[in-house]
Amino acid sequence: MAGTFGSCCAELKDAMSGEEFEPLITVGDDNVLYMSVGLVELEDEEPGMVDHPVFFCPFCGKGLQTPEEVREKAGDDEDDA
Ligand SMILES: [Zn+2]
Repeated sequence: MAGTFGSCCAELKDAMSGEEFEPLITVGDDNVLYMSVGLVELEDEEPGMVDHPVFFCPFCGKGLQTPEEVREKAGDDEDDA
């Protein structure tokens, strides 16, 4: 199922597979495609990545998933606070 992401173009596929670097575009446990947009400093913890769902391929512009799909997969417990 997760294999559907990255099928639109080689650039996205390479960015997700990243053998020589830590991919910033990843498929989460909820099967939603996320892009890391930055680092957040957490008290008492290591810095964490801030992920945001990707709706369109950043390379070719193809629609990958819709906000509705993401909401269904990820649930309503968004931690945007
Ligand atoms: Zn693409």
